[in-house]
Amino acid sequence: MEDIKEEINYWESAVECYILGSNPPQAVMDGYFRRIWGKIGVDKVAQTSKGVFIVRFHNIVDRNKVIEEGVQMFDKKPVIIRAWTPDMEFTKTQMEKIPVWVRLPGPEIKYWGKIALTKIARMIGKPLKADNATTHRERLTYARVLVEVELNNKYQNSVMFENEHGRIIEQEVVYEWKPVLCEKCDNYGHEMKECRKWIKEEKEKQKAHEVTNNEQGKGNIQNKGIDNGKQKVAEANLAKDTGLENKQNKQIEGKGYQAKYKTGKYIAKGATMQNTTLKLGNTFSSLMEQQTTGTRPKEPSSSIP
Ligand SMILES: [Zn+2]
Repeated sequence: MEDIKEEINYWESAVECYILGSNPPQAVMDGYFRRIWGKIGVDKVAQTSKGVFIVRFHNIVDRNKVIEEGVQMFDKKPVIIRAWTPDMEFTKTQMEKIPVWVRLPGPEIKYWGKIALTKIARMIGKPLKADNATTHRERLTYARVLVEVELNNKYQNSVMFENEHGRIIEQEVVYEWKPVLCEKCDNYGHEMKECRKWIKEEKEKQKAHEVTNNEQGKGNIQNKGIDNGKQKVAEANLAKDTGLENKQNKQIEGKGYQAKYKTGKYIAKGATMQNTTLKLGNTFSSLMEQQTTGTRPKEPSSSIP
């Protein structure tokens, strides 16, 4: 136990970062992490396995700032960020689970206490933590909770629970970020319309189309003129898509939550409502049990035999 305590203490201020669907070289990622988190203060970047990096900060307060920022984007790929724990390993099953920040907007601040909030969050995924502002009641417009969900989770718009008066409350759920799967290349992080592969193929298709038209259009000036006009509109649309993609990527990459939220892109799209009903009023004893087992020990060292 004593043998590893020093190492555990050392890495306690670190996060593990997993780049979804990509394995960039360490030198590139070192530069990237120092760029996005330079202001917070990166101490060390090291690769632990394929596409997985450990980033150490000078203290746990700085580390928590990074966790509160949530998912980052690297080259249109999501970078999943978790607090480092002593027995953490990015196994395949673990990679299929990701932490995402959700917002629970609304006036129901009486439910934003730890116990009720944990119960509500459990309907969305595995509750990991609430953010600072929620815990310290500094922002009453919405509660913000980090939950672990399956990568291919059904992302629901709302959850239902029964309040202390037996009334069913529908609570809106807003995901700050959620994985988008590209139907074209099967990678996470962008939709098909933003896919490089798709854009390239579309451009090639158009080119081929243009050639055919030019050949057919010889001697038929009127037709050629119309087709070229269509072509120009299509090209303009493609350029617009590409521009949009770059702009969004720029906004998301390396910036805090605000920028991501503004794009509105990842929020509540394709989400389905789940009719889960939860009673808040009468199961507090069982909740307390769940609460205890669900909470990480304050001293990670104590969980090691
Ligand atoms: Zn794609």
